[in-house]
Amino acid sequence: MPDKVTVATTWLQGCSGCHIALFDLDEELLDVLEIIDLKAAPVMDVKQLPDVDIGLVEGCVANDDNEEVLKHMREKSKKLVALGTCACFGGICGLRNLYHLHDVLERGYVTTESTVDGHIPQSADIPKLKEYVRPIDQVVKVDGYIPGCPPLPELIKEGLLALTRGELPEIKTRNLCEECTRKKSKMLTATRDYLTAAVCSPNELEEIDPHVCFLEQGVLCMGPATREGCDARCLHGNMPCRGCMGPTPDAQEQGAKMINALSSILPAGALMFQEDVVGVGYRYSMPVSIFPHLSNKKKE
Ligand code: SF4
Ligand code: SF4
Ligand code: SF4
Repeated sequence: MPDKVTVATTWLQGCSGCHIALFDLDEELLDVLEIIDLKAAPVMDVKQLPDVDIGLVEGCVANDDNEEVLKHMREKSKKLVALGTCACFGGICGLRNLYHLHDVLERGYVTTESTVDGHIPQSADIPKLKEYVRPIDQVVKVDGYIPGCPPLPELIKEGLLALTRGELPEIKTRNLCEECTRKKSKMLTATRDYLTAAVCSPNELEEIDPHVCFLEQGVLCMGPATREGCDARCLHGNMPCRGCMGPTPDAQEQGAKMINALSSILPAGALMFQEDVVGVGYRYSMPVSIFPHLSNKKKE
């Protein structure tokens, strides 16, 4: 029997959900373990990281400790793969890039409503927060990407199997609308009329037609600006896409791409965005956007 491919995993700033997604392979995990030898993971008590063929990294780089762990993983791995949207694009943690570091710390330790006599802790034992949250490829060389928040277990499996064959995980290039099977007739027609009378949350509608595009029903769906590959899983559950697979490779400004897509397909587009442009358009990809850097420059 040929030697198994050795794998180590680690996590930086995130929620550990990407590791849970790996375990969500359930019994299929046994197929994967037939060909890989898992040498280290956060839940294993490994004191010294060995050299491995593949390093899987979950989470983004938000503090000094994250950076050190990541660089060590890079040194020890022949191929390094970003696992999940935090590692690929910065993810939800990256929304803090909108604020100055001091304001973030003050909010966390001093001004939260439940805090009494708070202070920002200073200790050599506490990893220092970085000014900006970064995806891992802004710190080290990355060979492959498996996006998603968390990635579909099947995507993780496919990616791992590709790596064991000496290939890299496939990078999807189209947007989610391409794999979404909902009927979309009006949104593809340029029109000067509003397609919907109002912009609604899914819970404001009495009924959502499970076969018709969300945008055509007045519900914001991030499909036009989001990478395909998740099997449109939220849409099967009759919920709109929130963009967790991140931007497509040729349009990293996910929010701007969405505004562009909406304004070119229906005039109601601007309306759909007006409440929370950043939280909707850049929820998962702020650290790969130029936006906070530009706004901070203005403040300096
Ligand atoms: S990508 Fe999502 S699931 Fe994975 S660590 Fe980040 S927040 Fe958690
Ligand atoms: S906008 Fe959403 S619902 Fe409409 S086609 Fe695209 S992914 Fe499907
Ligand atoms: S439909 Fe959108 S939010 Fe849901 S899993 Fe796919 S990319 Fe993520």
